[in-house]
Amino acid sequence: MNPVFSDLPTTVFETMSRLAREHGAINLGQGFPDDPGPLDVRERGAQALRDGWNQYPPMMGLQALRQAVAAHYARHQGLDLDPEAEIMVTSGATEALAGALLALIEPGDEVVLFAPMYDAYLPLVRRAGGVPRIVSLKPPAFRLDEAALAAAFSPRTRVVVLNNPLNPSATLFGHDDLALLARFCRAHDAVAVCDEVWEHVVFDGARHIPLMALPGMRERTVKIGSAGKIFSLTGWKVGFVMADARLMRGLAKAHQFLTFTTPPNLQEAVAYGLGKPDAWFDAMRADYARSRDRLADGLTGLGFRVLPARATWFLNVDISGLGLGDDAAACETLVARYGVAAIPVSAFYPDGGVRDLVRLCFAKADATLDAALGRLAGLA
Ligand code: PMP
Ligand code: GLN
Repeated sequence: MNPVFSDLPTTVFETMSRLAREHGAINLGQGFPDDPGPLDVRERGAQALRDGWNQYPPMMGLQALRQAVAAHYARHQGLDLDPEAEIMVTSGATEALAGALLALIEPGDEVVLFAPMYDAYLPLVRRAGGVPRIVSLKPPAFRLDEAALAAAFSPRTRVVVLNNPLNPSATLFGHDDLALLARFCRAHDAVAVCDEVWEHVVFDGARHIPLMALPGMRERTVKIGSAGKIFSLTGWKVGFVMADARLMRGLAKAHQFLTFTTPPNLQEAVAYGLGKPDAWFDAMRADYARSRDRLADGLTGLGFRVLPARATWFLNVDISGLGLGDDAAACETLVARYGVAAIPVSAFYPDGGVRDLVRLCFAKADATLDAALGRLAGLA
């Protein structure tokens, strides 16, 4: 008998990072920053480790972290969350997503998903027994569309998964898109699982609006965040999930048998980091915006067509005119012949909708970006 997931391809992030290593390429594929992350937060984690924070912490997460998460989202997003009943610490956003989907979906329930989608969503929905209803968003705007939502929602809709800001398209859904989706959630009594890991990485003065803050959404939204993105510490895998107490009881049941807990020294450090002043978050955004502009301007100067990036660490580049085939073929050529690893955006479109965009990560040192630009010169 074949194991259940055996027919799935290896995740594109692992595949492209392996190819990058094999070819000695500059890895602008998998999203992780060159920046080592804030030293004080890392030192706090090291200190906690030395101080003996090494045994199982409470299943719901350290109280200090749950309180810090509540204070953080009150300050940054005006949310009022009860740290005792409405916040749980998970091993990354990935565990929060898996737990939420396992907890909320009964076999046969329909789940509305938007493409492009983070590659973990669809296998998790399927494994939970959900029936995916995919709404394909069209580049370059990637906006939600009322007619498409009306076609996707049905009386069997139980869950909708929204990623805002959206990886890989670097789109930030604003109030109108969110209000439209909220209307459908309310009308169909659906729960929204909102993956907001990129909530702080938004540019040009834009502000992230949590779906949970919209009228009627407080009791029907599961909000997911990740310290990996907030502090550029992707390997830490400290996530948080927020939902009203009734939903949280189910999420906690899933969590108890997935990971149960998350390393306490890292939780301690994240609790400290979440209290950083607003200026720190502004400087982090400004740094990434500068990197975005450096890569976007460089690519545009070389003749590439670059889509706007309002959030995340990613730029989307149109490869249709380059004569390299579709995006997957183009990425193979880019890594093997030009020494630059990228991610084909079709990996985020399980319906095969878009095949002419590649995603590049700009969360890199200037020298890394300049070296990549040097390798790509003459291609466009
Ligand atoms: N969701 C999205 C949209 C992501 O981009 C990522 C990672 N980049 C994750 C979830 C996973 O987050 P974590 O590493 O905290 O599990
Ligand atoms: N989220 C990261 C990205 O989009 C990759 C995470 C992973 O490797 N699974 O690049």
